[in-house]
Amino acid sequence: MAKKLVALDAGHGGFGVTPGKRTPDGEYEWDFNNKVIVAAAAKLTANGVDVIRVDDPTGRTDVGLTARTNKANAAGADVYVSSHHNANTGKWGNWTGTETFTYLGSQPESEKLAKEVQSRLVKAYGLRDRGLKKDNFAVVRQTKMPAILTEGGYMDSTIDIKKMRDNSVLKAAGEAIADGVLAYFGMSNNKPAPATQKTDKKPASSSKSSSGGSIVDYLKSKGIDASFSNRKKLAAEYGVKGYEGTASQNVTLLEKMKAGKKVSAPAKSSTKKYPAAKSGEGIVDYLKRIGVNSSFSNREKLASQYGIKGYKGTASQNNQLLDKLSGSKTSSGSSKSIEQMAKEIVRGVGIPNRHEARRKHFGISAAEYEQVRKRVNQLL
Ligand SMILES: [Zn+2]
Repeated sequence: MAKKLVALDAGHGGFGVTPGKRTPDGEYEWDFNNKVIVAAAAKLTANGVDVIRVDDPTGRTDVGLTARTNKANAAGADVYVSSHHNANTGKWGNWTGTETFTYLGSQPESEKLAKEVQSRLVKAYGLRDRGLKKDNFAVVRQTKMPAILTEGGYMDSTIDIKKMRDNSVLKAAGEAIADGVLAYFGMSNNKPAPATQKTDKKPASSSKSSSGGSIVDYLKSKGIDASFSNRKKLAAEYGVKGYEGTASQNVTLLEKMKAGKKVSAPAKSSTKKYPAAKSGEGIVDYLKRIGVNSSFSNREKLASQYGIKGYKGTASQNNQLLDKLSGSKTSSGSSKSIEQMAKEIVRGVGIPNRHEARRKHFGISAAEYEQVRKRVNQLL
């Protein structure tokens, strides 16, 4: 049997290159989609199936939909899978569930694939089964092979976001996609992906160096984090500019690391001070303004460097992180709890009428004020 080829598509682009497409807390959809697709690729590859990424695996550009489907069509892919995460209002709500789309009309092969994937995906996410759907999406319309688009859950759901912030769930979701594809191909008894596969790793093919050993293997052998984000950091330290994880950059980085030629000491970010934050500015806007990667994964890293444990991107953690980074008191200018401030507003004594004035009255960030406002609405 000829080797099968699966076109994998993490929807949109990361790092804010696609407008919208983020959670109410500012995490990018692509980051979730990418983790699913990376895990799917690892498991498919482990089972002898070839894969191609039709999005930009670095997330730095949002590849057009026609470019994505053209690439899959030109490569002669056997199936096409696009991973997405849904949004409803863009504000937190309690809508929930997993669904898989095929193109309009009767699409027996795509529907067969969708069925195999959807049942497994529902188990992996542990969310409501919203079933198989049909829509006129470009990636399922323009592809010449059976094609599906999965919506793992709602990014603006307080229920579903818990799953998306859990890397083990996203990994399971990617493996569920791989299992569904393998079942569709009639390949049973599939093998697990290598245990060392990290969900944030770039596809193995791009990290192999032409000189034999790969940078990833080298880092692992030294017990160093081999994730793309850490390799990017190392690349900066070793003077490899504009690191995107290409094969030649990986070779250069590997050679420089082996030679021990660092251009600068690793950033001691725990003492690093960033510029002051503007009044009412959120962490994502702040990081963007000062040119720092504001993705959830980078904020998670910064949080751990600054001693914020178990970062999940909650409003209060974001405020804490902003305070620590900017060295300023953007939040908790008030020692009062959300509950105390909400009760004072309800009582109304000495409280300004307008929201912005109230926020300043308490000396808290916009995100914190939002929590107060919500509590007030519950109390009223
Ligand atoms: Zn999407």
